[in-house]
Amino acid sequence: MSLNSRKKRATDAALAAGVDALLVTNLPDVRWLCGFTGSSAALVLPRPSSEPSRKTPHAVLFTDGRYIAQANAEAVGTQVVIATKPPLTEACEWIAAAGIKRCGFDKTQTTVATLANMRKVVPAKQRHSLFVALDPLVAHLRQIKDADEIAKLRAAAKLGCKLFDHILTYIQSGMTEMAVAAELEHAARLAGAEGMSFETIIASGERSSRPHGHATTAKLPRRGFVTMDFGVILDGYCSDMTRTIHIGRASAEERTAYDAVLEAQEAGVAAVRAGVVTGDVDEACRSVLRSAGLAQWFTHSTGHSLGLEIHEEPRLALKRTEKLKAGMIVTIEPGIYMPGKFGMRIEDTVLVTRTGCEILTPSPKAWIEL
Ligand code: ZN
Ligand code: ZN
Repeated sequence: MSLNSRKKRATDAALAAGVDALLVTNLPDVRWLCGFTGSSAALVLPRPSSEPSRKTPHAVLFTDGRYIAQANAEAVGTQVVIATKPPLTEACEWIAAAGIKRCGFDKTQTTVATLANMRKVVPAKQRHSLFVALDPLVAHLRQIKDADEIAKLRAAAKLGCKLFDHILTYIQSGMTEMAVAAELEHAARLAGAEGMSFETIIASGERSSRPHGHATTAKLPRRGFVTMDFGVILDGYCSDMTRTIHIGRASAEERTAYDAVLEAQEAGVAAVRAGVVTGDVDEACRSVLRSAGLAQWFTHSTGHSLGLEIHEEPRLALKRTEKLKAGMIVTIEPGIYMPGKFGMRIEDTVLVTRTGCEILTPSPKAWIEL
């Protein structure tokens, strides 16, 4: 989908919500709509003018002087204004001067203080009617990925799988979790990643019982689990995968628990299909762990969507009622965490299709003992 059609869809959604223009300040939304990747931006999508003589621009991007070259290169097809005041201030002044009566903004992305500042810069008579709080329209459009985005997410996920293969040849008991994270991140950068999509989780031994065990100076044990949850950002899009391996011989309890988590994860993947309720995918994972007597240790939700951001809507969680749609990209990541003992998680990123899903992270999930 071209950037112009994204802008048109967002403008149409704003008009349908009863406003004449949309003010977008969430940077991933700005990037998705106009291609600009800078850190300072306010984008205005006004209603197209009905008078052919007065040509209203389709989109106006306000940024600051640091981004003159970048904004003109990236935001092709969007009018760029280099603001001398804060970009949001100039955007609000422009909105008022353009005769816009009601301008929508994303109520989940705008603080009370920011809204007060937005109102302060417009004429008094417009102060209380101009800005209209809306549900996140752009984030909603971003839930369904287009072909270009799917290709980018597929490439990012593929790089994640390559990094997992690499790290398996590197890991040894006695090295620190930090060393594993550093190797992974170094290899990611060499392979073209712009960065990691979140802080790398390497949780070993007893620390594997922490769902978000960021890498520490703890040494990998001679016997025990190592949970690795990591993602790269490639061409703006995030990857996300988790694998848990075992160093040394496992106890029967550890092995049984792993098999149950793997079965739960596969049941979750099997439940994914367009039209299925997200809460039902969560339940598919949870019921396997319930049968294994382990559900009490599954203390987080089953998954989330991802794209330009690592956590997007919809979430796959208990009792959630949104329906999956073809073109969504979601994670399936059940895990169990037994305090003081051990824990594990297995996570894939999948593309929702009409008939099921395609796993974008096909790294092996079967038991690995190093
Ligand atoms: Zn993850
Ligand atoms: Zn995840």
